Amino acid sequence: MSTVIIEGAHVYTADDERHEWADGHVVCTDGVVVAVGAGPADASYEGRRVDGRGCLVTPGLVNTHHHLYQWVTRGFAVDGTLFEWLTRLYPVWGHLDEDTTRAAATGALATLALSGCTTTTDHHYVFPTDGGDLLAAEVEAARAVGLRFHPTRGSMDLGQSQGGLPPDAVVEDIDTILAASADAVDRFHDPSPGSMLRVALAPCSPFSVTADLLRASAALARERDVRLHTHLCETLDEQDYCREHFGSTPVEHMETLGWLGPDVWFAHAVHLDDASIATMAATGTGAAHCPSSNARLGAGIARVRDLRDAGVPVGLGVDGAASNERASLWEEVRHALLFARARGGPQALGVRDALDLATVGGAAVLGRTGEVGALAVGMQADLAVWDLSTLGHVDVADPVAALVLGGQPPLRLLLVQGRPVVADDTLGTVDAGAVAADVAAASHGLLRRAGLLA
Ligand SMILES: [Zn+2]
Repeated sequence: MSTVIIEGAHVYTADDERHEWADGHVVCTDGVVVAVGAGPADASYEGRRVDGRGCLVTPGLVNTHHHLYQWVTRGFAVDGTLFEWLTRLYPVWGHLDEDTTRAAATGALATLALSGCTTTTDHHYVFPTDGGDLLAAEVEAARAVGLRFHPTRGSMDLGQSQGGLPPDAVVEDIDTILAASADAVDRFHDPSPGSMLRVALAPCSPFSVTADLLRASAALARERDVRLHTHLCETLDEQDYCREHFGSTPVEHMETLGWLGPDVWFAHAVHLDDASIATMAATGTGAAHCPSSNARLGAGIARVRDLRDAGVPVGLGVDGAASNERASLWEEVRHALLFARARGGPQALGVRDALDLATVGGAAVLGRTGEVGALAVGMQADLAVWDLSTLGHVDVADPVAALVLGGQPPLRLLLVQGRPVVADDTLGTVDAGAVAADVAAASHGLLRRAGLLA
């Protein structure tokens, strides 16, 4: 039996009643929360004791959209539109291989952990013919860093010669994609409660995949009982593309393909009309709101208040590391709040609403409600202990506001399934210095193969 007892902390649970205690405890045994409440823990618990005085305990943050491999291609087309940025990077990504992907994923996952993230998805959609087993490489990286992982088998089958945006060299044919998707589910997907790894299927976007691939992927996902993910309504360029090619809005297009439902989540969901929001709400389709990336690419700001009011499940995502060079999930909480208020006024998103997006909201989007994203007895022991006792945060009247509105506080402890992944802002699972060196070597190698470095 392995038990961690945290006492004396301000505890924000993000549970259904939003329980919160100024002086509370959380006890975790064998990866599960066994007690949470006011005051000290029952004296009978034995195990590792954590003095939580001056700290805020929250559920671990849940990231609903990322492209881990992009950690090695940060800083390109920094002033470009989405389509300019993509066309600059597609040829570079065409040279990805297993070692590059493993190094990039390890760097991105380590950074996520240091920002309070305990569960993350990944949308990998570039699979060069001779690239090797890229999905296995990122699964290996997630196991090494110690995060709960929801990788997707992404795909593109609509190259430039067929009217798509990506060059033909980085797309695959539909049969290869479907076989690899089934294989990914067979090899990696664990549907059991408390699972550390679940796979989803994720054709990339309306301008890089065919309708046939979207339809077939949805059928396969439902046959295998896994979730579906794609990019949707990210930019006005995409909206124009859909109008021109399909004569419909992106959401109408997805509706005709069977791509709406409680097992589907869309990254971005920025440019939505009222009818599209109503459709997403009625079908339980989720949204991964990525405020930093949307701002970095000048794509727009999602209608988060309207989505929440309509009942659409909304989580937060950092998006790929090449369009959000920071890729800190903590930062997305702050940006979600600030951008929502800049767009919709001071009542648009509360401090606790913003934190809920990154916790219980993200869990709903990934289909993990009742397992992660909140602190309650029986939930997985995924939590963050934020130190609010140092100069930046000491004595802020509202500890949750200190976390959301202040800079990122020191991370005293991050538990994933009860296992310490970060302690005192230091990764305990991998060596951050060695990971940085691997990232640099992988990035240089990739840029050399792509002809961008001598
Ligand atoms: Zn993305």
